[in-house]
Amino acid sequence: MSRAFNFSAGPATLPEPVLLQAQSEMLDWHGVGASIVELSHRGPEFMGIAAEAEADLRRLVGIPDDYAVLFMQGGATTQQALIALNFANPRQVADYVISGHWGKTAIKQVKPYLDARVAATGEAGGFRGIPARASWQLSDDAAYVHVTANETIHGVEFRDVPDVGAVPLFADFSSSIASEPIDVSKYGLIYAGAQKNLGPVGISVVIVRRDLLDRAGQPRADIFDYRSHLKGESMLNTPPTWNWYLAGLVFKWMLAEGGVQEFAVRNARKSALLYSTIDGSGGFYRNEVDPAVRSRMNVPFFLHDEALDKPFLKEAAAAQLISLKGHRALGGMRASIYNAMPVEGVQALTAFMQDFQNRHG
Ligand code: PMP
Repeated sequence: MSRAFNFSAGPATLPEPVLLQAQSEMLDWHGVGASIVELSHRGPEFMGIAAEAEADLRRLVGIPDDYAVLFMQGGATTQQALIALNFANPRQVADYVISGHWGKTAIKQVKPYLDARVAATGEAGGFRGIPARASWQLSDDAAYVHVTANETIHGVEFRDVPDVGAVPLFADFSSSIASEPIDVSKYGLIYAGAQKNLGPVGISVVIVRRDLLDRAGQPRADIFDYRSHLKGESMLNTPPTWNWYLAGLVFKWMLAEGGVQEFAVRNARKSALLYSTIDGSGGFYRNEVDPAVRSRMNVPFFLHDEALDKPFLKEAAAAQLISLKGHRALGGMRASIYNAMPVEGVQALTAFMQDFQNRHG
């Protein structure tokens, strides 16, 4: 068996120790004689896993007690719709700052439920930057302001928390949660699909300031109600136990590695190495994002000649560097370098890129 360095944007590479542990526990979890995925979610085994996962995530991300944590099905896109139902009155205004593809998805999901306004968008500039805070058109009576902390496709990341006054700031952290310390108290709500930095696809995390759960929101089924999920300990119905269990193992791995402080250092190092290779290539490779807001997680880049794209991908795969093809919306290449991507993976990629340039430049 040989594992490649996998630069997939999500589902993404997982820490090898986590996969090995899951493998070793697959048939018999801790001596109970069955796999954890074969046991009731309400049994003591899984209830213990769920409680530990929440405690570990709280410690990892630094989530204050006045914030609730929910483990939800449906991916990040479902949370994008549910925030309207839970936190805004029908036809109330919500402001969206769009810095890439996922911000556009977010606003699309709420259009049936509220008066969704584009407070600012970087689309005219091809989403190569973040519109200056001074240009945002915010409404005083908005239910919330929504931003995408890291745009997975366009490779644009907020490097500070925007001040939006008294209106709660809601943020999609799907592709950057737990990649560095953040001040949770600056946000009303944070949500993230797990399949980049937290674990496997099939589960999402919602971190919400508890007082916001008192908002009436809109008529909705119980299963769409965050308050009900909180009361039901994220088990209103059968939760995705396998995904939750695996995410829990990833939380433990991240804590054991040194937590978000350590990952901030590693992620800064990895992304700096990759961007400096691109910028130092004399135009053979290029990244078009404003350097001030370049993502530390997703690095889109282009070769100077599109005809080289296919050979690049083929030779990379032969060198055990996989999933580098860019998203179809942008073309080119993209290297996703989440927490589970070791520094050695980025070193192998940049060495390959320099070698490829020497041979094809
Ligand atoms: N937001 C961001 C920033 C994403 O990267 C993605 C998925 N790539 C989504 C939302 C959508 O997530 P899901 O497919 O889990 O609904």
